[in-house]
Amino acid sequence: PVSRYGDERQNSRGVNLANHSLLRGLAGDMQPFSRDRYGVEPLLATQTDTATAGGTTVDTNPSFPSEVVADVRDTSEEETNTAIAVARKFAGTWDTVGVDERAKALERAADLLEERLAEFMALCAREAGKTVKDTIAEVREAADFCRYYAARGREQFGTPQTLAGATGEHNELSLHGRGVFVCISPWNFPLAIFMGQVGAALVAGNAVLAKPAEQTPLIAYRAVQLLHQAGIPTKALQLLPGEGAGVGSWLTSDSRIDGVAFTGSTETARLINRSLAGRDAPLATLIAETGGQNVMLVDSSALPEQVVADAISSAFLSAGQRCSALRVLYLQEDVADKIENMLAGAMQELVVGDPRMLNTDIGPVIDPEALATLQAHAARMDKEGRLIARVPMNPDLQGYFFAPSAYAIDSIGQLQREVFGPVLHVIRYRARDLDKVLEAVNNTGYGLTLGVHSRIDKTQQAIASRARVGNCYINRTMTGAVVGVQPFGGERLSGTGPKAGGPHYLLRFATERTLTINTAAVGGNASLLGLGE
Ligand code: NAD
Repeated sequence: PVSRYGDERQNSRGVNLANHSLLRGLAGDMQPFSRDRYGVEPLLATQTDTATAGGTTVDTNPSFPSEVVADVRDTSEEETNTAIAVARKFAGTWDTVGVDERAKALERAADLLEERLAEFMALCAREAGKTVKDTIAEVREAADFCRYYAARGREQFGTPQTLAGATGEHNELSLHGRGVFVCISPWNFPLAIFMGQVGAALVAGNAVLAKPAEQTPLIAYRAVQLLHQAGIPTKALQLLPGEGAGVGSWLTSDSRIDGVAFTGSTETARLINRSLAGRDAPLATLIAETGGQNVMLVDSSALPEQVVADAISSAFLSAGQRCSALRVLYLQEDVADKIENMLAGAMQELVVGDPRMLNTDIGPVIDPEALATLQAHAARMDKEGRLIARVPMNPDLQGYFFAPSAYAIDSIGQLQREVFGPVLHVIRYRARDLDKVLEAVNNTGYGLTLGVHSRIDKTQQAIASRARVGNCYINRTMTGAVVGVQPFGGERLSGTGPKAGGPHYLLRFATERTLTINTAAVGGNASLLGLGE
């Protein structure tokens, strides 16, 4: 229901995929956006001479590599420089505009996203290879972020908080933007994460420089145009498409930057951290949401049918390209044979194919590099592990498709890093070794999501209290966190927090100021006071 969250904010509108006439209409509305070829260029408040700036043409279509979706011109170093100067100059003005106006613009953006659902669905399928269901979830999450941060912004940045103190003194605490925020986002949620970071930074009163992932600049381009249309000034939000090693590092090594909101790999987060630390400037804020080594623990009391359904959904849907996705399934040895067999059977029913077809469960992976990494990992697992099952795949499929696979392995130590795709690793454990399993999981250093399947309350609580993870899910899937309901983000190698879509997120984009007034002050220049105007 749209009114699910009461008066605070509207819930994002869903789509009933069982309604055929609605689907036909939606398919028709998506058509124009499924054909056009787009141009993408930096969206800057002050245009420099674009003719001299370097440009590249990028094929940003992962699913159908023969068809170019967008011609992209990367931001030049000179443009980056100017954009930072413009943002720096405008940040103070944007902060004094007041949170209500900023929040209203975000709410308008949410409405516009819903009006243009078909367009963004089509672009998410074409540019990011998302399935129909995933494209709907993507647009909904983006709209939810906008409305949620608008609500939190009003609540936290609206009126200064009055603090208790001595009589004769007034004390208050207020929140303000930090200045210039750089938002660097990944390709796997090219609209939702992009708009979440940008919306939060903006509503908190910062001027924003947005650097989208190389693979998905078009979605970001349309999203920034939409935010401008919703009332965000061009000086408050500029888009700087380009390479991480180019515009990404120019931005994060610049001494005029006050903060960075980053979502992506743990390795890139480290680079950005060093880049910021190397500056001879005020220390910047870094919010980094990174990868995970996510496991699901299953004991013998679990319902096997539900375990299999939830494991498949958590590990393979979205082609395993979610940071929250399940990577390692721990099965208590007493039920392992049965669950493995059921898993192998269920995997035969999955459909890998064109993500725009409703019957497709799993689309392509993002690009040839991702495919090669997954193929190399599968080759290693073919030697080191035991193949439990592989999803059947039409060999004639054109694009970067990888058949989801499940392998039995001996220990989580065999996986050195996050494998970002549809590969599930299965490990058996003895009931009495549960503590050791938890220790091994904690020792990976990651701490993003954890799933538990057990019908025993004590076991659920024991695991939840010992696991050092950001999001723990019991007897359900491990993906699909909902804005404001399951604030999302990890700890340790998985991120700095605060959680996206949670009540503490905006605070990290803010600086605090107190004001203390001696209200009992007497005396002063009485003749001046008497002059009136
Ligand atoms: P990535 O780290 O390769 O890239 C992320 C962004 O960083 C891109 O915009 C890229 O251009 C930029 N970048 C790269 N090098 C840079 C540099 N030196 N300086 C500045 N910017 C630079 O990650 P990806 O492949 O786009 O995304 C997948 C990763 O993101 C996975 O590890 C996944 O787990 C993680 N992720 C985490 C979350 C979360 O909330 N924790 C959510 C989604 C994705």
